[in-house]
Amino acid sequence: MPSGEPLSSIGIKVHVRIRPTAKPSPMFHIEDQTNTVLIDLLKQNGGGAPESFVDQIAFSVNSITQSTDQSEVYESCGRALVKDFLEGYNATFIAYGQVGSGKTYTMAGDMKVNAHRGFIARAIHQIFEEKEADPGSGIVLYISYLEIYQEGMYDLLNQRSKDLMIIEESGYVYIRGLAKIPVETEAQALMCFSEGEKQRSYACHQINQVSSRSHTIFTLCMEKRVGRFKTEYDTVVAKLNLVDLAGFERLKKTNTSTGGRMRVEACSINKSLCLLEQALYAIKQGQEYVPFRQSKISIILKEALSGNCRTELILCLWPEEYFLDETIKASRFAQRLKVLRTFSIHNKKIDCCVLNERRHAQEIANLQQELALKDALQGRPGLSFDDLTGEVKGKLRETIQDFLQNDGELERIPIDNQKQVRELFSLFKESQVSLRAKLEKVLSEHGLVEPIEEPQETESGVGELTNQGFHVGIAPPHARPHNPSASKPSPDEIHCSHLMLDYKEADPSNDVWETGSSFRNHKFQEYKHTTVMGKQQDSLIKSKQTELRTTKCHVKDLCEISNNLKQDIHNIKKILKEQHEEEFDSNAISRKADLYSRLKYLKVDFHKNYSQITFFKNVLQKLNQEIFVCKEGFLKSFYSWFETHCNHPNETSEEYLARMGQV
Ligand code: ADP
Ligand code: MG
Repeated sequence: MPSGEPLSSIGIKVHVRIRPTAKPSPMFHIEDQTNTVLIDLLKQNGGGAPESFVDQIAFSVNSITQSTDQSEVYESCGRALVKDFLEGYNATFIAYGQVGSGKTYTMAGDMKVNAHRGFIARAIHQIFEEKEADPGSGIVLYISYLEIYQEGMYDLLNQRSKDLMIIEESGYVYIRGLAKIPVETEAQALMCFSEGEKQRSYACHQINQVSSRSHTIFTLCMEKRVGRFKTEYDTVVAKLNLVDLAGFERLKKTNTSTGGRMRVEACSINKSLCLLEQALYAIKQGQEYVPFRQSKISIILKEALSGNCRTELILCLWPEEYFLDETIKASRFAQRLKVLRTFSIHNKKIDCCVLNERRHAQEIANLQQELALKDALQGRPGLSFDDLTGEVKGKLRETIQDFLQNDGELERIPIDNQKQVRELFSLFKESQVSLRAKLEKVLSEHGLVEPIEEPQETESGVGELTNQGFHVGIAPPHARPHNPSASKPSPDEIHCSHLMLDYKEADPSNDVWETGSSFRNHKFQEYKHTTVMGKQQDSLIKSKQTELRTTKCHVKDLCEISNNLKQDIHNIKKILKEQHEEEFDSNAISRKADLYSRLKYLKVDFHKNYSQITFFKNVLQKLNQEIFVCKEGFLKSFYSWFETHCNHPNETSEEYLARMGQV
């Protein structure tokens, strides 16, 4: 609901447009100076002699034009109202008159010829002219086009959809379901209008070859921003209704009395206009109940007739002798309307947030005044609520430095207001953070805290974890793990390495035995797979090798984590180094503190991870040794088995058994 100024009532304006005719009635006159339409009435003499003397009725209006120039008529009757709409006032412009008097010509005109364009096209042009002249206003427009045909409502911008309903809420009337088409350019708006026009109901009869058989309401809804600043503005909304009423007609004159569709249409039009007139009458009489709901057009025009709207009517007259009755009837309708008063509100929609902000600002100002008053009453110097200037901040910094470094006096630290106290806290925090950083540096220099090493870029991009030479990932060949036990083999190990048989390949090409290697290998496989001892030893070695592989994978994962942690530590250190020169403010301090705290946790994680790596590295070493010992034992036992069973390659089975018997 828009907020607005106090209500001020305004009258409905009536303009008269006279359709040019070759046979004007001598009974029809206009008085330009007083804007009066005068119609002579023949008064019957009581004695029966006809047309004995003449009476005259006068209708006073706001303006009269006989011009056929559409532009001239728009300038004198329409432009001001559209301007009001653009300023944020609801407006309605109604064309009324008998059939064929020029209502549709005035409102719609002929779109094909520029000079013949009617009010609607000209209003659209004026609106977009204004929009282009003031792009900052952010004018947004929506168009609706409604037709009321035989008391049915049709959406002309939505394929004559009938799914519409009139809703009345808090005194406002709107049509649920009616399309509201947003338009950004004049061309789009004109296109909308032309499309709607194509959907209208027309018929041809004796008086008008292209007679519109319905009431139409072309509505433009506008939203725009007003305000001094782009960030703080109010939204103004307004609605402009351009109404082309169907013309009332005498059935005889339009030759529609014989029946059929046109007769039904004519009756419906006449009835709805009659009901509209009844509503006007009720408003004029000040009746408590106004029968707006009797017809669609009256309820839809409710606001225009008695609500928040600036309303104007163009009364189209066709001053031929033949239509004198209709001219009088139409003029009487206009006269009734002219005495009605509506009210007009500047429809400003204030954004809730802006409203709250303004309210809070006011509340703060009031509270500050109250505090100042209290201080004054207690004889204290007044407080300043302004933000601290750079100069004041600089002085506070000096005071704090003096206090911390030179044993300054506590009393010298000023505590005047909240902003100052906050600033002091951030200065203390800044000092504490920088002290901690210095302390950590000193401790690490003296080896009291394990320093975090910067990651060293290698060819493959994998950093060396420690100087103890454990590498993972895609480390280059020269950076391969360095096994200290392998670097200095013991004499036993040397011996065993000679004896070593690969469990899978069993290819001891370097062995010292003199027997043929294929025979020995064959026997080794036999020992491994058939003897109880060989099977046991082989399975033990395999299980230890599996454990070794799993542990290696685990260590690899740990090293990857370690490298990531190291990278994170390196990044944070880099940021902290860059921020060193940054100008001090409380935000920067809290950012720095966050970084330091993150750095601390990363270091803890890194050290935990590092301990795990060391532990599992020892496990790996132990496993390697155990496997080595097992293999050694395996080979030794194979050796003795081989000596016993196989080292006589040429002996027969009897010789073997005999030898075994000797053994
Ligand atoms: P209404 O809508 O009132 O029934 P129209 O606007 O359709 O009547 O007018 C009927 C015809 O009269 C139109 O074709 C139009 O050319 C012509 N006409 C009406 N008023 C004027 C005018 N002021 N100047 C020129 N032609 C007019
Ligand atoms: Mg018409």
